[in-house]
Amino acid sequence: MKTVYSFGKGRAEGGAHMADVLGGKGANLAEMSNLGIPVPPGFTIAATLCTEYLRQHQFPAGLDDEIRAAMRTLETDAGRRFGDPTDPLLVSVRSGARVSMPGMMDTILNLGLNDETVVGLAEHSGNPGFAFDSYRRFVQMYGEVVFGLKADNGRDPMEAALEKAKEDRGVVRDIDLTVEDFQSLVKRFKQIIVAEGGVAFPEDPWEQLWGAIEAVFSSWDTKRAVDYRKVHSIPDDPGTAVNIVAMVYGNMGEDSGTGVAFSRDPSTGANILFGEFLTNAQGEDVVAGRRDPEPIVHMAERLPEAFRDLQDTCQRLERHFGDAQDVEFTVQRGKLFMLQTRAAKRTARAAVRIAVDMVAESLIDRREAVRRVQPQQLDQLLHPTIDGTADVQVLATGLPASPGAAVGMVVFDADTAEKRAEQGDAVILVRRETSPDDFHGMVAAKAILTQRGGMTSHAAVVARGMGKSCVAGCKEIDVREAERRFLVDDHVIAEGDWLTIDGTSGRVLAGKAPLVEPTLDETFDQIMTWSDEIRMLRVRANADTASDAERARQFGAEGIGLCRTEHMFFEADRILAMREMILAQDLEGRRKALAKLLPMQRGDFCEIFKAMDGLPVTIRLLDPPLHEFLPHTDTELQTLAESLSVPLDRLRHTVFVLTEANPMLGHRGCRLGITYPEITEMQSRAIFEAACDAAEQGVEVEPEIMIPLIATAEELRRQAILVRAVADTVFSERKRSVKYLVGTMIELPRAALTADEIADVAEFFSFGTNDLTQTTFGLSRDDAGRFLPSYVESGILPADPFQTLDRAGVGRLVGVGVGLGRERNPGLKIGICGEHGGDPQSVMFCHHIGLNYVSCSPFRVPIARLAAAHAALVEPGNACTLEEVTDDESVAFIQQSAGAGA
Ligand code: PEP
Ligand code: MG
Repeated sequence: MKTVYSFGKGRAEGGAHMADVLGGKGANLAEMSNLGIPVPPGFTIAATLCTEYLRQHQFPAGLDDEIRAAMRTLETDAGRRFGDPTDPLLVSVRSGARVSMPGMMDTILNLGLNDETVVGLAEHSGNPGFAFDSYRRFVQMYGEVVFGLKADNGRDPMEAALEKAKEDRGVVRDIDLTVEDFQSLVKRFKQIIVAEGGVAFPEDPWEQLWGAIEAVFSSWDTKRAVDYRKVHSIPDDPGTAVNIVAMVYGNMGEDSGTGVAFSRDPSTGANILFGEFLTNAQGEDVVAGRRDPEPIVHMAERLPEAFRDLQDTCQRLERHFGDAQDVEFTVQRGKLFMLQTRAAKRTARAAVRIAVDMVAESLIDRREAVRRVQPQQLDQLLHPTIDGTADVQVLATGLPASPGAAVGMVVFDADTAEKRAEQGDAVILVRRETSPDDFHGMVAAKAILTQRGGMTSHAAVVARGMGKSCVAGCKEIDVREAERRFLVDDHVIAEGDWLTIDGTSGRVLAGKAPLVEPTLDETFDQIMTWSDEIRMLRVRANADTASDAERARQFGAEGIGLCRTEHMFFEADRILAMREMILAQDLEGRRKALAKLLPMQRGDFCEIFKAMDGLPVTIRLLDPPLHEFLPHTDTELQTLAESLSVPLDRLRHTVFVLTEANPMLGHRGCRLGITYPEITEMQSRAIFEAACDAAEQGVEVEPEIMIPLIATAEELRRQAILVRAVADTVFSERKRSVKYLVGTMIELPRAALTADEIADVAEFFSFGTNDLTQTTFGLSRDDAGRFLPSYVESGILPADPFQTLDRAGVGRLVGVGVGLGRERNPGLKIGICGEHGGDPQSVMFCHHIGLNYVSCSPFRVPIARLAAAHAALVEPGNACTLEEVTDDESVAFIQQSAGAGA
């Protein structure tokens, strides 16, 4: 099998389509060669060999012959011979994986130099300074890369020797050293290699080449490369290709240079050549930061012809690849050579602008433009971010619970947060975990940090709903609320200290980091409009208040998929009434509390209906896991005792009696309405009266009443009877009626497995995948933060299942639920309202499994719109190829048991 591919002189054995074999760099070098763009000749050793080499630690038979043949072609193209003592061909040896991993793997330049060939290079180039400088660079790089002499602790004996030589000579730049300095540095480096590496520096160019190839292959498995792949979800198996390319020299004098350029500005997307260059330098000077490069525009004066060529080449590459490019180049004695091109990495802002501009320039079509913007990237546009150029001190890392960055002074309780915010201070609320009591503090704070709790914990869900930055489950910190401080190792952060929270990455930073404010412009709207044209899934928002609803509409929500009615009672003056209801001893007590809640709910619902102006609104009846609403502190108990006119001790006892061992599986959801029908009746009344009020004001309404935590069809049947009876009563009282639906959440495995029976009663389903994940895994939403990150880190789970839907398990239940539900009722409207509704990978799953809509927090609506468009683009016009979204076994199971979406 062929494993070595040549390129150069306007032709190549490979091309851009062969990135799997040649790696990104090799494939594009071949492509540029084919296009007649000046690249130095060379050859690429296939990435497939890397994996084989790493497994067996030897090269396959036949590789030597292939490489020698490719070297002969290279020698012919370059007009020089490898190892020739009079005019040697030198090569660079560079890694190049399928997916670029900038700076993660190794490179060696000037390979082929030795004590003999350097003399030939000096004579032939007529520039001994350049030749001996190149030699010392090569020996240094070879020592660092092949013999590993650059210790991970940063101690680099050769760099130290270089610094000493410059000091002795009294110069700052490497290139100001003399030929004698370079010669003695080469000697010194070779001694260091023997002393520290235990072997002699190889003088034979072929031995040098094999050593370099091995080193590049091995660099695939270095810790930093492995870590990088893990962070960027790059698979471990493809390995890296090796590119062996004839050297061109940017360090041949002031008419030479090297640089990197972007065909468009990678931070703003503006259509201008952007980049940096250095005259009389080799690439690693820029990479290693040894000298400060100049902005690329200066190249127009210094190397005008090469600059024009660079501009033309970048434009040509853009047109050819249909995307903004990031190139590396070298100018040798005024002539431009391209060393690399690849799709440019860019900020979200640039991604959006480039995509929209390229449609206007007829380089790509709208569908491609949408494909070019990654849904997750939009977080950068919707929330402040930390200035990427700033030096920051990371104190700890927790779960990235709600994106965006914020700076503020630390406070440890909600009241202080509120007080200080009223005084104009920016505060960050730090709690061990949050409860509804903290709501006013969360509203007042710029960001929230908790020690405990997972991605669907109270803090995470509420913060996301408000679009507020939150890091949750940060187990590295020890929060001591009573002492008004928290500890990270031996670092103490006290109340009033400045802190920065990055909810996008989960980082907690000391002090005030500089932030970049989000910007939305017409290019963002354009991408959103095109996404809407493409997508098939509808996108709704989880919103509990009229202001959330308004925000959701601004972000393009097409309805409310979940209004959590208990969230309406988080505010201080309302939580009291809610607690009265929960703690009431008898029917009469409950009715009294419910009577207080009714007008509040009716008013809120009416405002929400008006805000949504005819769009569907799904209202979920009360589902309060009791521990979230019971009073905890003495002050809270005292206030409640006064309001209820009961002795404190008695109240304490009631709270004790009501306290559940496992509230998430306790007296919550529909179980509350089953045992206390008056709660369902009050809420239904509030909804229907509000609907009539809104209708009287000319607003079209069609409420969807949703019963939570159903395990059996019978539970739903009984609750639906109650709801419909109240509807009839209200409609006859008000002498008008509105259309409405009664449906249910599918958030328990039993509900998914008996979805056919439930579909006989339900007019719609909404998958509550937070609870469905919790109950499928048997994994507490509130406690998972303690150990789940280590599950993900060690690869037991591919991702946090509360963040990205677990397709193999929870997804399978969703598939079964959809299939059984639609089998009984083909027109059944089905959505999802768990946090997964805003996660791009999960949205992809929802599209393919045939849901009608996803619902997520308002700030994630644009992300879901774009993700839904991406999902539709995977298989245009076709609702389902489940293979793309589930493993084979699940596919078979889902299709067989449910016929879902097929
Ligand atoms: C769910 O369980 O997915 C859901 C949306 O409900 P909650 O998060 O309020 O339990
Ligand atoms: Mg739930």
